[in-house]
Amino acid sequence: METCTIENCLKPLKAKGLCSMHHQRMLRHGDPNMVRPRRVKTFVQCKWVNCAAPAITKGLCPKHYYIYRVTQATLL
Ligand SMILES: [Zn+2]
Ligand SMILES: [Zn+2]
Repeated sequence: METCTIENCLKPLKAKGLCSMHHQRMLRHGDPNMVRPRRVKTFVQCKWVNCAAPAITKGLCPKHYYIYRVTQATLL
């Protein structure tokens, strides 16, 4: 049985010297070695002092963003 021509891939041959997985990649990306980099959601902590809540807007958590907005409004 013939196997995929990609290095370290021992899957059975499907088309054009590639296994089904690498053939799919070849069709989709034009490169059988293409692997989509996973998007890792980076956790951003609120920049407010002593606040460990995740930041949602402008580096602040919803609570502190609200305070920030209110204080900004009063300063204007
Ligand atoms: Zn393969
Ligand atoms: Zn906060």
